[in-house]
Amino acid sequence: MADQIPLSSPDITEAEIEAVVEVMRGRFLSLGPKGPEFEQAMCQYLGVEHAVGMSSGTAGLHCCLLALGIGPGDEVITTPFSFIASSNVILMVGAKPVFVDIDPKTLNLDPEKIEEAITSKTKAILGVEAFGNPAGMDKIMRVAARHEIPLIEDSCEALGTTHGKTKAGTYGRCGVFGFYPNKQMTTGEGGMVVTNDSGLADMCRSLRNQGRDPGGNWLAHARLGYNYRLSDINSALGVVQLKRLPEIIALRQRVAHSYIQLLLDEPNIILPTIDPNTSMSWFVFVVRLTEQFTAVDRDAILTQMRRNGVGCSNYFPPIHLQPFYAKQFGYSRGSYPITEYVADRTVALPFHNRLSEMEIEVVVHHLRQAIAKQLELRKG
Ligand SMILES: *Cc1c(COP(=O)(O)O)cnc(C)c1O
Repeated sequence: MADQIPLSSPDITEAEIEAVVEVMRGRFLSLGPKGPEFEQAMCQYLGVEHAVGMSSGTAGLHCCLLALGIGPGDEVITTPFSFIASSNVILMVGAKPVFVDIDPKTLNLDPEKIEEAITSKTKAILGVEAFGNPAGMDKIMRVAARHEIPLIEDSCEALGTTHGKTKAGTYGRCGVFGFYPNKQMTTGEGGMVVTNDSGLADMCRSLRNQGRDPGGNWLAHARLGYNYRLSDINSALGVVQLKRLPEIIALRQRVAHSYIQLLLDEPNIILPTIDPNTSMSWFVFVVRLTEQFTAVDRDAILTQMRRNGVGCSNYFPPIHLQPFYAKQFGYSRGSYPITEYVADRTVALPFHNRLSEMEIEVVVHHLRQAIAKQLELRKG
């Protein structure tokens, strides 16, 4: 049965549709004016000097690592509690992902454990703002600065989040966003590298465009590159979505707020904790079951909710336990216990802009019911 309340849903209006159609009526489906327009709008929104459109967030991260000269023999410190792309890009350049366990409060890299993992081979820290929360990023940035290692900020889940005066994506030497349809804003597929480092931006522009130097001869290739370009069709969609982003973020904050109000008295779950100085751009809404529940309980609760038409998921299974990581690097359960403890108990609830109060109540009802049923089963 299809989920009656989907886990995620993009928010596309007539304005986006018109903008895309307009590109298709014109001459430039790619490498036209919409790419630079989207990049400029992104620079303005974030207050950064350079933005480089990419065909995906993964492509953007890949280019950042290459632009920083990271390759075989190098180590990059990163989190095992993330979507797998943040770690795969390290393997894609031939370097070694060195996982560091998370802080159980922030769900992001534990800054103290980063210190212990730094070696002479460490060439970067690839930090992720899990679920859009920048908690601890300022500390991670200071660790990176103290060791003179660049911080690559995977902000693919955090576009529009602000902590104090700092926008997610601007902590690191470079920040990367992704625009897959489940993100706060979408271009269908797409991504963006943002940075104040003009050399890094130029290198990313070359790498995304078959190794051509920007402004150079079309058939001259200075280096090995890729086709990671973002088309004008996608960029046009991005321009309108970015214009609407403040409205979209506000709608999502309303949904998150409703969930929090309705679930405050539920003793079997832990709600996300947000620093009072953080203005969240919510990517997903993930609650955690309390300690008494196991991964088996959690999976049964997910199954029960889906049976009732509620889209839900276990964001994110630990990366180090994904089969090819476990095999290649010899990881097993216990390698990163805090990540495993958290990942065993997460329940991502349906989360998108247009979720009605009634739908939110239905989700909460089915969550409570599934938890109660599981508690009954455990007794029996
Ligand atoms: C979505 C996401 C990405 C990039 O995803 P693409 O699908 O390649 O755009 C990278 N890292 C994290 C943590 C993400 O959530």
